[in-house]
Amino acid sequence: MTLLFCSASDSAEDWRREIARHLPDLEMRVWPETGDVADIEVAVVWKPPAGMLATLPNLRLIVSLGAGVEPILQDSTLPDVPLVRMVSEGLTVDMAGYVVYQVLYWHRLMDAYAAFQAEARWEQRDHRPASEVTVGFLGLGELGVASARTLRTLDYRLKGWSRSPKSIEGVESFSGPDGLAAMLPQCDVLVCLLPLTDETRGIMNAALFAALPKGAVVINAARGGHLVESDLLDALESGHLRGASLDVFATEPLPADHPLWRHPKVRITPHVAGVTHPSLCAVQVADAVKALREGRPLPNLVDRSRGY
Ligand code: NDP
Repeated sequence: MTLLFCSASDSAEDWRREIARHLPDLEMRVWPETGDVADIEVAVVWKPPAGMLATLPNLRLIVSLGAGVEPILQDSTLPDVPLVRMVSEGLTVDMAGYVVYQVLYWHRLMDAYAAFQAEARWEQRDHRPASEVTVGFLGLGELGVASARTLRTLDYRLKGWSRSPKSIEGVESFSGPDGLAAMLPQCDVLVCLLPLTDETRGIMNAALFAALPKGAVVINAARGGHLVESDLLDALESGHLRGASLDVFATEPLPADHPLWRHPKVRITPHVAGVTHPSLCAVQVADAVKALREGRPLPNLVDRSRGY
């Protein structure tokens, strides 16, 4: 069996080494060195060029190196073969760590203490106990649930919004438009971990910010397309929102002259909240290939009609 690897932002050699540990008999080619395209049955991709997958006549499986698959689904020539996405404990633990770090930063007033340190100023400020701080999640899937569970160990009050209602210990579940409207006014911190679909694009906009209590903080670790950046800047400028932690942007890399870079209430990371580590995630690629070979149900299959 021959696999084609295509990603501009991952080390093909690291993936070759790690995939070979699980599938030593598999041949891996690296795009654009495809050789005879008729040989290729599996494509492992992150942001493949539009039209590339359609050039593989015998393709049987697409594996996304990312948990979010919108860069693949937006290709209008995408062949009608199964698409599986990355779900891995390594990525999930990474994301939960990012979310906990950002929640603690804002809740424990690290923004104020960083400013005080710059002035060698010893000043103690009161912060509320975690049990009185509500963190709401947009999206209660693999990453939202893991992040909420980790925050629960620190005693935060937790709420989450998803398409279908959930029963998760310690997390109050909301769904549908009414559920979102009911949850937002209760959130001191709002974390976005939704997939980017037609329904969720632009969801973090002026109306959503207005529904949050004054002084709330937003964390976007999902996709830049969820956030209307100009609305966020307005909500920060007006003082309605206290701050924002952003890992993803409408344009990546974020242009050097973008106002978000230097905004004093914004913390920026360059799309690193949850990383697909080859040493931890190659086993997921191998599991999908083995399931295909053995005719078993594919793990983490994307429902194309839902878009995630
Ligand atoms: P999942 O598919 O496991 O979970 C998605 C969640 O969003 C589900 O709870 C789903 O509801 C909910 N959802 C989807 N559409 C809607 C809607 N219209 N209204 C309300 N809820 C909705 O995804 P993951 O948790 O694995 O990943 C989430 C996203 O995180 C990815 O799609 C990707 O964009 C982003 N990501 C970012 C990374 C980074 O480094 N910044 C790294 C990895 C992922 P239901 O459960 O009812 O289906």
